[in-house]
Amino acid sequence: MEYAPQLASLRDMTENEQVIRSLYAITSSYEQSLQQRIERLLQLGCQRFGLDIGILSHVVGDEYKILYHTAPEGVPLSNGDCFSVQRTYCIRALTAKGPVGFEHVAQSDFATHPAYKDFGLESYIGAPVMVNDEVYGTLNFSSPNPSHKPFDLIDIDALQLMTNWIGTEITKDMALQELSLSNQKLKKAEAILAQVVEVAPACIIMINENGDIELVNQETERMFGYGRDELLGEKLEILLPLSMRGSHAGMRNQFMRNLDSRIMAGRELFARKKSGEEFPVEIGLNSVKAEGQSWVLSAVIDITERKRYENEIIGQKKMLEQVNELLATQANTDSLTGLFNRRVFFDKLTNLLDLFTAKSKPISILLLDLDYFKQINDTYGHNKGDQVLKELAIHLKAQARDSDLVARYGGEEFVIVLPETDQLRANRTAERLCKKIEAVDFGCPVTVSIGVATLSEASPTKLLVDDFVEQADQALYASKIAGRNRTTHFQDVAQNES
Ligand code: GH3
Ligand code: MG
Ligand code: MG
Repeated sequence: MEYAPQLASLRDMTENEQVIRSLYAITSSYEQSLQQRIERLLQLGCQRFGLDIGILSHVVGDEYKILYHTAPEGVPLSNGDCFSVQRTYCIRALTAKGPVGFEHVAQSDFATHPAYKDFGLESYIGAPVMVNDEVYGTLNFSSPNPSHKPFDLIDIDALQLMTNWIGTEITKDMALQELSLSNQKLKKAEAILAQVVEVAPACIIMINENGDIELVNQETERMFGYGRDELLGEKLEILLPLSMRGSHAGMRNQFMRNLDSRIMAGRELFARKKSGEEFPVEIGLNSVKAEGQSWVLSAVIDITERKRYENEIIGQKKMLEQVNELLATQANTDSLTGLFNRRVFFDKLTNLLDLFTAKSKPISILLLDLDYFKQINDTYGHNKGDQVLKELAIHLKAQARDSDLVARYGGEEFVIVLPETDQLRANRTAERLCKKIEAVDFGCPVTVSIGVATLSEASPTKLLVDDFVEQADQALYASKIAGRNRTTHFQDVAQNES
């Protein structure tokens, strides 16, 4: 039989009141555990309904599990026993979503129910227990004997009061368990975080809105040389160079006003140890806000070593650049005279010839060879010979224009490239050089023979560097043949031959 909630009569109210009083006495015994109070409530129910067995069950899907029970000795029931909910009378209460009671099952349509066959229970009264608006399980009372009296509305009221109370207590209990679980998780996370902060390889320093230090880790103590007690409660500025302390409070306040996270960058930052030693640092800032208050968490790293490496690397780079420069100079220079060497001469001339077109201005080269230089060596010694070569190089450089290229061609031979110089001007330059050198006092008689060649218009097939030098060489040979200390242009040699 299912029961619709309705108001009990006045007479029933007194009886009802007694139930409520007993119920209140049990439920308000907060010194007892939930289990103890539920077990007392099950006993009260058995008493009230005149039944033997009281059960609080938890129903999940088809599983019906006994959470707590009270039963006469010998009844084979244990907390934790599970059944198929379909095979319990409770399925009726769950389907009806309210209280259900049978005083004598054998005489009811319930006689065919599997639970009757399984357990042989003749009387039953039960109702669903709701937790957070969902079915949690059932509170039920039963007996292998028929009930000696029909269940009335007071019984139903009492049952509903009990299920309501249990529902509320379980809701509270679940919330408490959840709270304690999240508290445990929070404590664990806090402990891990505290440990991480403590052993972090950077100084972790937290200050409050006033700039007072509220937290430091081991590394802060180690790096700054202060004990924790000396830092906590002090202003952050204790860790700054004296020159920074005055202006820092203002900057700190400004940061507090528009809290953001950042790495302090743009200029070199320094910190100050207890010993007074200042050292370069890198600082990362983070704001922390909670309950209307703000903190700034900073991570400080000592970058002394990094700076040292940086400076070392900069120094090494500079040295390397200098060495490279020296090597490049050496690769291009003749070591005795300091003039460009033969390779640079060929490169320069190759470039000029590559760019040479019909519209280009003429280019001339002078090939110079010291006359009877072997004799100078033989007479005055090899060192004197070297001396002459060096001095000659200075005179050749002095006579040349900035745009000219003077190089040592090899041995006692030199070459001069004269860009934008025609045959006439090249010849004049060569003659001037001959006279000049003859006039210089080298401490021994020194003259040169010169061969000149000029490229004055674009040849149909481009003139190769080797051929151009060969022309100058032929002209030089002609100067030697003609008696030395003179200059000859290839053009004149060619004309004489033809
Ligand atoms: P010519 O007028 O026909 O050019 O006669 P020369 O003696 O100058 O010519 P030769 O080719 O017979 O001799 C060149 C000499 O230059 C021989 C060599 O020892 C000398 N010589 C070459 N390079 C150097 C050098 O770097 N230092 C010195 N001291 N002598 C050098
Ligand atoms: Mg020679
Ligand atoms: Mg010579």
